[in-house]
Amino acid sequence: MRPEPPLALLAELTHRCPLRCPYCSNPTQLTGAGEELDTATWARVFAEAAALGCLQVHLSGGEPMARRDLPALVRAAQGAGLYTNLITSGVLLDAPRLAELCAAGLDHVQLSVQDAAAAGGDRIGGYAGGHARKLTAAAVIRAAGLPLTLNAVVHRQNLDNLEQLIDLALDLGAGRLEVAHVQYYGWALANRAALLPSRAQLEAATAVVAAARRAHAGRLVIDYVVPDYHAARPKACMGGWGQRFLAVSPAGRILPCHAAESIPGLDYPRVQQTSLHAAWYASPAFARFRGTDWMPSPCRGCERAEIDWGGCRCQAQALLGDAAATDPACDRSPRHGLLADALAEAASAGQDFAYRQFSESNIRSDRIV
Ligand code: SF4
Ligand code: SF4
Repeated sequence: MRPEPPLALLAELTHRCPLRCPYCSNPTQLTGAGEELDTATWARVFAEAAALGCLQVHLSGGEPMARRDLPALVRAAQGAGLYTNLITSGVLLDAPRLAELCAAGLDHVQLSVQDAAAAGGDRIGGYAGGHARKLTAAAVIRAAGLPLTLNAVVHRQNLDNLEQLIDLALDLGAGRLEVAHVQYYGWALANRAALLPSRAQLEAATAVVAAARRAHAGRLVIDYVVPDYHAARPKACMGGWGQRFLAVSPAGRILPCHAAESIPGLDYPRVQQTSLHAAWYASPAFARFRGTDWMPSPCRGCERAEIDWGGCRCQAQALLGDAAATDPACDRSPRHGLLADALAEAASAGQDFAYRQFSESNIRSDRIV
């Protein structure tokens, strides 16, 4: 069956970032600046995405503000007819730079915060003074008249501050707050024992969200999804592999999701050699886990197979070493007990993080040979 066109493109413009979040969704082996796609290639990718049917582009990273050509990239995306959303930590964003982006046609900003206050935020992000810069960035974004979404990645070390995070979103004039539990692969898996929240924390947070949604209806939209480790059923990761979204890595790999490079053995096409159209409709990597034909037992024949699509392939790879297995977040998976083991380990673990590093030792070569 021919797939529907994708809705959105995630453009990972760079892996460079001044912050060092211990749950960063970037791969543990990072692409260096010298191997990032250039401006003209990104402009072509945006035009291809729009022609393919994408409605929006998420300009992400790493920190996309680290790209000096960001205004040109926004202009190219806007010119292609895409709704442009900047996903930023905010620490490099000031009024003059935002004015350039607005002039180029930027439509929306998603600003990440690591905690509700400076002490926690700066420690978690590994960047002294970062939280204060984010508050300034939020004010600049609102003063420019742009809609603002606040992104808060939550975990054991900030989940108890959720009420304050909601207050912060209101104070900053955000129209939407995304409360996103950490996804445990890459850097986050390395820090899992220090990040996993307890069941009691989760239940308290869920009650906070329910009350805040009632209290702030019409003023603040709160997106909130229960984390996999406390769920009985997995999420429909990315709306199903190769069904709604595609991502392009800093070096040009075309991916069904930003973490898909963690799955070995899949030959992802590259924008230098393959069009987005050909990648979406004809590449074996996009077809590999699309739909239900690939599914093993117990997903095969399950009444939820076309609801959650078997869960997250990257999580199955990270926890089981087999991307083609049922996501162990599902309690019908024979390996579901692994998640309870991880929660038990986290209950007695310390709070120290292994911080993400951007150093000689973890920069990989993405050269095309
Ligand atoms: S998660 Fe943190 S370290 Fe990773 S790109 Fe975002 S702000 Fe930077
Ligand atoms: S068995 Fe598979 S399809 Fe069924 S609920 Fe679990 S992960 Fe989803």
